[in-house]
Amino acid sequence: MKRSLCLAVLTLIGVGATVSTYEARQPRASLTVHDVADNLYMLANAASVQGMGGGGNTAIFVTGDGVTLVDTKVKGYGEDILAAVRAITDKPVTTIINTHTHWDHTGTNVEFPDTVNVVVHENTRANLASDDCGDGTGFEGGSIKNCDSFKGANARFLPETTFSDKITLGSGPDQIDLYYFGRGHTDGDTFVVFRAARVMHTGDMFARKGLPYLDVASSNGSATEFGRTLEKAAAGIGGVETVIPGHNPVPLTWQDFVDYGGFYNDIVSKTRAGEAAGQTVDQIVGSYSLPSEYNDFVAAPDRLRATVQYLVDGQ
Ligand SMILES: [Zn+2]
Repeated sequence: MKRSLCLAVLTLIGVGATVSTYEARQPRASLTVHDVADNLYMLANAASVQGMGGGGNTAIFVTGDGVTLVDTKVKGYGEDILAAVRAITDKPVTTIINTHTHWDHTGTNVEFPDTVNVVVHENTRANLASDDCGDGTGFEGGSIKNCDSFKGANARFLPETTFSDKITLGSGPDQIDLYYFGRGHTDGDTFVVFRAARVMHTGDMFARKGLPYLDVASSNGSATEFGRTLEKAAAGIGGVETVIPGHNPVPLTWQDFVDYGGFYNDIVSKTRAGEAAGQTVDQIVGSYSLPSEYNDFVAAPDRLRATVQYLVDGQ
């Protein structure tokens, strides 16, 4: 991590408000709080925000003991998250769950006290602790998997609670179930279910109604496994009605999530059929048409080409 950023972050922790490096260089995205259920909120980019804005959607869940956050946006937005929490409750933030390693979902972990319990899949912890921070496509040229934010003294912010398949936090109205079903967007994507509220945060396994960004290069994501992982999640998680997607500006539904798997796996099927017929990637992409039952989903040409290429390459 760059020294200037370290200092900005330390100042933020110390006095609660300052101008971060990010804020100084970027127009600040305004955020909107959506009521999702009793004691559960989604903090999203305002509808007017174009592009990344503050990063992924944050869930704010008020429990008996304190506040649990799911995903922490991009660097410099810790004070925005805390302001949203303070408008809801005086309780402290006690737990952070990160759905995956990316810089736009873990960016402000280091802006909260290091006493907060951080919970992630074991592969996400390995990504955050990695020495190979890679490709410079994340925050201000930092790593997309954000491991450069957890080096040196900041290693104390690395998650201390991990799981492999499933873990349950809290009980009764506070129960949160965390599931892992395999590789997809990365190799450590967690589905977070707020049991009493019948709500699930999907992270970027369902970012929006469009084809996923697949982080094959940096975080061991997989185009071939992505669809299988969605199917396992749809089959293995029950009792969910409302979905907090990774980036969509408003909540979606369980049926939208199920349809997302259908939309994606239709592309897998068409790719496999094209391969069997001896088609090239260009031909497979060129002959693709969106099934009418998924007409509210978007297969952008660049994402479609990347997805088909990964599938053909067996990645
Ligand atoms: Zn991501």
